[in-house]
Amino acid sequence: KKVLIVGGVAGGASAAARLRRLDEEAHIVMFERDPYISFANCGLPYYIGDSIKDRSKLLVQTPEAMHRRFNIDVRTESEVIGIDPASKSVLVRSKERGEYRESYDAVILSPGARPIRPNLPGIESSRIHTLRNIPDTDRIKRRVVEEQASSAIVIGGGFIGVEMAENLREIGLEVTLIEGGPQILAPFDAEMSGVLAKELEDHGVQLLMSQTVTSFTEQGNQIQAHTSDELELAADIVILAIGVTPDTAFLRETGMELGPRGHIIVSDKLETSIPDIYAVGDAVEVVDFVNDSKTAIPLAGPANKQGRIAADNVCGLGTTYKGSQGTSIIKVFGLTGAATGNNERTLQRLGIPHHVTVVHPNSHASYYPGATPLSIKLLFKPDGTVLGAQAVGYDGVDKRIDDIATVIRFRGTVTDLTELELAYAPPYSSAKDPVNMAAYTAE
Ligand code: FAD
Repeated sequence: KKVLIVGGVAGGASAAARLRRLDEEAHIVMFERDPYISFANCGLPYYIGDSIKDRSKLLVQTPEAMHRRFNIDVRTESEVIGIDPASKSVLVRSKERGEYRESYDAVILSPGARPIRPNLPGIESSRIHTLRNIPDTDRIKRRVVEEQASSAIVIGGGFIGVEMAENLREIGLEVTLIEGGPQILAPFDAEMSGVLAKELEDHGVQLLMSQTVTSFTEQGNQIQAHTSDELELAADIVILAIGVTPDTAFLRETGMELGPRGHIIVSDKLETSIPDIYAVGDAVEVVDFVNDSKTAIPLAGPANKQGRIAADNVCGLGTTYKGSQGTSIIKVFGLTGAATGNNERTLQRLGIPHHVTVVHPNSHASYYPGATPLSIKLLFKPDGTVLGAQAVGYDGVDKRIDDIATVIRFRGTVTDLTELELAYAPPYSSAKDPVNMAAYTAE
């Protein structure tokens, strides 16, 4: 059996490893447009910010190691530019071999999503960077380190924008973050996001909210951004992080069913509308696990899980993907924010009846040194089913959200949260864990 994988990072690499485990004989070919496979996308901001010092640590697998360990035929700098379902072949444009066709028995698509680059005047400036892969990272690092950039404008207050603002600030740049909406970090409701915004400001990041950049002009060694509020800001570098769009242009001619924004439509077995072609990761439309609507959630956990499931189904196992709940987490200087499931804005927009409770317990027993406050917001249905949660604090935020994420996955209720028996000794928690406390308050 010959299986082609398009995209060699999160979803693609997971699919390849799982396929090999399930089928020792399969000929597995992995096509990757870039020079690198299986790199740590999520680590890129921290390498730019010097928390990760060694560039080679970002390269989780090399093509050679992938070949040695899993016998995968890895072809880097090889872009799949078309698929012909009638002849069951793909068209590849390779740096080394030019254009050629490769036949398949099955294909797993994991092409991901690319940063949006709006068509604004001056957008072609080489001082405007987006961040997706290793070459982008190298360019930003060069600009910051070799050219000693001392100021940055970050456009977009999503996860990547906030992480870049933090990391550039950590290495001493003057940073201004411009956000088009009234709040940063959309997975959070306004009051939780406000705490994270304040942490940015307390660490010297200037925030400009509810305004957009309308054009850029180069001025000597700097770039100027002009905003909708008629501000003019100058900096050495601009990081553009206003969101991503699925990297699916090469599928347009195939007749494959795509959603309104170009996401690949898949079944619960991650089959596309074309037989023997599966798709996973940032490029696909998924079901929201909490409210059943169609959505797209570009996160590494779902991409990896889907890669594994698509491989199962290529091998006939019939595994299903049951939806994404958007569990996510971010470090903002000393604070951590984490969220899972639906937030209040989403529930209101969809008209889903819900109750809210907010608690501010300590991260662990207050008599043991180092306890810090933690805010947990819990959203649940009138029948008690947990719909979502957000937490912000200095310590122990991750495990609280993970507990609640787990209960949501099992369609659990507030009562289930009260019954969770969680690890406790004074340095770690309280006899009534903050998650229990949130649930007691809700009952
Ligand atoms: P990708 O990992 O993007 O891989 C797709 C690959 O396919 C790309 O390398 C691309 O070059 C290749 N490709 C595309 N089209 C073709 C083609 N036609 N032919 C050949 N190759 C092709 N998620 C989290 O959950 N937590 C985090 O902390 C986090 N931090 C992030 C930080 C940054 C800076 C970035 C960019 C992303 C971050 N993410 C994070 C998101 C996470 O990385 C993605 O959700 C995940 O990588 C998606 O996996 P994927 O396989 O769908 O796409």
